[in-house]
Amino acid sequence: MQNLLIKNGKVLLFKNDDVVIENKDILVQNGEIEKIENNINYEDAYVINAKDKIVMPGLINTHAHIPMSIFRVSTEGCSLYKWLHEKIWPIEDKLTKEDIYYASMLSFVEMISTGTTCINDQYFMPEEIRKAANNLKVRAVLTRPLIDTDGSLDTKIQEFREFYETRDKQNDLITYTVSPHGLYTCSGKCLQKAADLAKEYNLPVHVHFLESIDEISDIQKMHGMSASKVLKKYFDGIHTILAHSVKLNDEDISMLKTMDCGIAHNPVSNLMLGCKIADTTKYLKEGLNVALRNRWARLWKQLRYV
Ligand SMILES: [Zn+2]
Repeated sequence: MQNLLIKNGKVLLFKNDDVVIENKDILVQNGEIEKIENNINYEDAYVINAKDKIVMPGLINTHAHIPMSIFRVSTEGCSLYKWLHEKIWPIEDKLTKEDIYYASMLSFVEMISTGTTCINDQYFMPEEIRKAANNLKVRAVLTRPLIDTDGSLDTKIQEFREFYETRDKQNDLITYTVSPHGLYTCSGKCLQKAADLAKEYNLPVHVHFLESIDEISDIQKMHGMSASKVLKKYFDGIHTILAHSVKLNDEDISMLKTMDCGIAHNPVSNLMLGCKIADTTKYLKEGLNVALRNRWARLWKQLRYV
């Protein structure tokens, strides 16, 4: 692996739990940061002159549907349910492998251009997303999502197994989650199978959680208990990434504090679909772990949980 010397950058550093920016050089050897000092000289390295540029860790997008950037104009005037049922799911039925591959390439290029180097994803035909991620050498957390609204749970579990078991074990840029789509789209059987898979493969869970107001009553009807109780029932003891978490009440917050979970905050998506914005100030004060989607959070160390 080629050594790298980044010269003259404004380097973002953590000191005593604070963020400071200092003019430094950085030497990277064998893929690891060896030195952050003034005036490093090292001949056997590719040199980048970062004058007038910030040098910082890559951003982590903690909840994405990577190929969906090609649908980003489709949310106009839609609530979440209307958007999914009337626009997204019918279009997705028509997507080909080639569509997914090129849409993923486009999304990765866009994310790289804004400094995002790791993406936690949840989308189907993940082999195509993995191929695109490998081509562009981005870090990605991938899955084959599980959903059983159409009675195809066993097929989806089999697709997940095949996807996971055909991974390149030497490639540490790509890691995996088990990902039931949401508590309102997955039956108890589906959630139990997801939990079993997560334990079998020792993987985290990535799930949509209380994104919209409609979910609260739908989850209660489907599972006979509140969303946070459903979460606790199936995923207690499993590291779980909760996408959105806009509608948490005090009981939900108390329940999440007893679990190993983190919230992926998605303010832009939530506003586009009229879900309002999660009260992340309160969540953080309560001690919950919150990360941002596509933006850099104050708590960089906490972002690294994916
Ligand atoms: Zn999502």
